Amino acid sequence: MNETRHNWTKEEILEIYNKPLMELLYDAATIHRNHHDPNTVQVSTLLSIKTGGCPEDCGYCPQAARYHTDVEGNDLMSVQQVKAQALRAKSSGSSRVCMGAAWRNVKDGEEFDQVLEMVRTINKLDMEVCCTLGMITENQAQRLAEAGLYAYNHNLDSSEEYYKEVISTRGYEDRLETIDNVRKTNVTVCSGGIIGMGEKTEDRAGMLVALSTLNPQPESVPINALVAVEGTPLEDQKPVSIWDMVRMVATTRIVMPETQVRLSAGRTEMTREGQAMCFFAGANSIFAGDKLLTTPNPDVNEDMEMFKLLGLNPQKPFIKKMQPETVEAQNSQYQALGEKPKWTRPEHTIERNEEAKQKAKALK
Ligand code: SF4
Repeated sequence: MNETRHNWTKEEILEIYNKPLMELLYDAATIHRNHHDPNTVQVSTLLSIKTGGCPEDCGYCPQAARYHTDVEGNDLMSVQQVKAQALRAKSSGSSRVCMGAAWRNVKDGEEFDQVLEMVRTINKLDMEVCCTLGMITENQAQRLAEAGLYAYNHNLDSSEEYYKEVISTRGYEDRLETIDNVRKTNVTVCSGGIIGMGEKTEDRAGMLVALSTLNPQPESVPINALVAVEGTPLEDQKPVSIWDMVRMVATTRIVMPETQVRLSAGRTEMTREGQAMCFFAGANSIFAGDKLLTTPNPDVNEDMEMFKLLGLNPQKPFIKKMQPETVEAQNSQYQALGEKPKWTRPEHTIERNEEAKQKAKALK
């Protein structure tokens, strides 16, 4: 077994990332086999429970209200709608449902209460429940934990330096604070990032430093390849090469041996051979379903065919950690506090974000 280290440096990570490919693959695959069953891959279904109209300015995101994209917004889904989708996901082999809402941060109130009910409902279906709702306070994390939440997703996106080139409406420290708030509960942490946003290799390494030096390291790390959506500031970015994806997956596996490394956005651009190489390099989780929030994803049947071809099996739920208990709302120890935390608003100017905003205004 390789010891999990929390003191990786950018130089060390760059050295791994830039190794001759065969050596990198061999090292990553060896570590993968020491810590995981190489023929088991976790399947998560991502569900957009509240789409569009987001006040943030993430340069990659078609859900930001300020950009002009084809995304149609919708209000928060009902608990029954979410339950129906979760049952469908379960029957097609998913062990986890990840519910995403296009919010800057969670606000106590009816909508959050409804999300808590969704968490209770899915946990009772014996599926792992994950949420990605933006920034949360410790009390909100505790309430999610009581409802039976298994994981909270909050991506770091990139290195701290490059984050400022992509988002101006919140700071990296807010991200870390939310992860810290989740860590005060039993909920596991899912945090990763996106490659192909114009960052340097150093930024990819910088993001892996930020994630791997967390103690404990995140239980799951999604690696996304940017899906450049028309109307967003990053619409002209070139697709990520499969070699970059494989290097990123392999390096993530080496520096975070216990983590589930998830192939996330950008899979539609990857061949089966490319995905197989990523599984060999240590990826052991995918997002399933024909949509990833708002961007396209392979059809679940295609994924199951690929699993058959490669001899992969979907991971059963609660293999890595016990199923949390659900506490009913009336028995909750944690109540809404109506907090108004001061999340940062750096509001520096990112030229391409401004241009996309002006372009959208002109089209309205
Ligand atoms: S990534 Fe999330 S926070 Fe950023 S604009 Fe999109 S929905 Fe909002």
